[in-house]
Amino acid sequence: MSGRLAGQVAIVTGAATGIGRATVAKLAAEGARVLFTDIDAAAGQEALALLRTAAEQVTFLESDVTEPAHCAAAAAAALQRWGQIDILVANAGLQSSAALLESGVQHWKTTLNVNLLGAAWSAQAVLPAMLQRGRGAIVAVSSVNALVGHAGQAAYDAAKAGIVALVRHIAVEYGRRGIRANAVCPGATITEFHLKRAAEKGMDGTALRARMHDYGLLGRVGEPEEIAAAIAFLASPEASFVTGQALAVDGGLTAKGAG
Ligand code: NAD
Repeated sequence: MSGRLAGQVAIVTGAATGIGRATVAKLAAEGARVLFTDIDAAAGQEALALLRTAAEQVTFLESDVTEPAHCAAAAAAALQRWGQIDILVANAGLQSSAALLESGVQHWKTTLNVNLLGAAWSAQAVLPAMLQRGRGAIVAVSSVNALVGHAGQAAYDAAKAGIVALVRHIAVEYGRRGIRANAVCPGATITEFHLKRAAEKGMDGTALRARMHDYGLLGRVGEPEEIAAAIAFLASPEASFVTGQALAVDGGLTAKGAG
């Protein structure tokens, strides 16, 4: 298949829905072969059916990013199938809300385990194969929460800021050996998570988008495909001189002043 990522192999974590699924579709459309994972096996199979790609191009594996052995198994599966790993998109995450004084040990452990340690274990699993070939691009999905403070999200903010530090570390440590690592920091993006929460309040997608008409500098929230486009750019050879960066894809939210 031709395209910017022709001949490349990618792993995308937590990709049964939302930004991850849009990223799988985008990478596949650009010519990559993609193994995507998710802890939710049923949703993963549903996504696979929705993607309507050839089995040789996209495959799904049930996997929990908080388990280093699962991450290693995902890397092994991609290597066994296609013999190489060029791209990792560490996307799996869960939103969690609590201010510091209201957040307990379990809340912090779960939030950090999935959002931060999950990215670390995923990167640890693919790096040996990437280093062996002397090339690889890692894109981790952080958040604007890493860049500006949000009320009521102590552990989530800290985990997402940790992701930026993690990719910077990978970039510093392995840059000379052909590895690039960057983070994407999405602003509010309408995914199943938001749609479900809105539905509980009697709102549909249109009402939810209308309610957020004042968001950022563009006066709207983002769509998963817009985040996937930025991820695909950072993963692609077009970003060959970009590493150790955190790219806000947020409709200008973090550039907006108080005025
Ligand atoms: P989503 O809930 O649609 O997708 C997240 C996926 O991760 C789900 O399919 C879920 O099953 C999976 N997952 C959860 N725990 C997992 C685990 N332990 N192992 C493997 N998979 C697991 O959410 P989304 O909005 O598409 O979020 C994707 C990423 O983008 C997350 O890291 C999120 O923090 C980040 N993000 C989202 C927004 C937004 O507004 N949607 C904004 C900033 C950052």
